[in-house]
Amino acid sequence: LKVSLIKYTSEPEKLIAAAARLCYSPMGAEKILEDFKEGEAEDFLGKLVELGHLSPVEHVSFTFAIEGVSRVLSHQLVRHRIGVSYSQKSQRYVKESQFEYIIPPTIADNPKAKEVFEGKMAQIQEAYNELVKYVPAEDARYLLPNATETKLVVTYNARSLYHFFQLRCCRRAQWEIRRLADLMLEEVQKVAPNLFKKAGPTCVSQGICFEGKMSCGRAAQIKSRS
Ligand SMILES: Cc1cc2nc3c(=O)[nH]c(=O)nc-3n(C[C@H](O)[C@H](O)[C@H](O)COP(=O)(O)OP(=O)(O)OC[C@H]3O[C@@H](n4cnc5c(N)ncnc54)[C@H](O)[C@@H]3O)c2cc1C
Repeated sequence: LKVSLIKYTSEPEKLIAAAARLCYSPMGAEKILEDFKEGEAEDFLGKLVELGHLSPVEHVSFTFAIEGVSRVLSHQLVRHRIGVSYSQKSQRYVKESQFEYIIPPTIADNPKAKEVFEGKMAQIQEAYNELVKYVPAEDARYLLPNATETKLVVTYNARSLYHFFQLRCCRRAQWEIRRLADLMLEEVQKVAPNLFKKAGPTCVSQGICFEGKMSCGRAAQIKSRS
């Protein structure tokens, strides 16, 4: 799994702080940005997130290149609809003449399971290559498995990223999308540390778990430590 932050709004924290400050100031945004002092964003962003005053956070966006993930993952990813844009490698236009696939760790670590899995993948590849001789790739792809590797470019605004991290950095999320979410969080924390300081599952960001009986127990652990 490979994820890179390929573009983001420049000076994201300053822009958010200026947009938020505009709500409470007689000054215009340009003047606020001009007067902005280094280090002012940190306190301000913390307060915004705490108060849930999140519309200013929507002004900045982050674009990621994602590779080496399965179509299992991409299917879950595109369920996130709000404040997000996706582009994904097409199986209509790009023939899967030698398709890569993702092997879940439980299968990779079990020699018997791995043998079954890899054997089936080889058979599917063979059948696909035969089928594309007779039908277009858009129909031959119906043979391809959920494990097929895919590539995407995704753009999230910071508010929708917060929501994504709440759901997908949680231990209850499926392992592959959780791994992706953790890596995405690491990437944005490098460029906007104050903005994403408290991002993550709700047990970390708010000290609350909504999983009820399914809770992993981390929220209780965090509570007992504080
Ligand atoms: C652990 C886990 C297990 C899951 N299991 C399943 C499963 O078994 N089956 C399944 O189908 N999905 C499952 N999902 C996917 C889940 O139901 C959501 O589709 C997905 O997490 C996207 O979340 P979202 O709708 O909050 O995000 P977004 O689509 O980005 O929406 C963000 C927020 O906007 C609001 N919103 C968006 N659209 C609407 C709307 N139409 N009406 C009103 N408000 C709206 C909501 O407040 C929503 O939280 C699972 C997700 C997780 C994290």
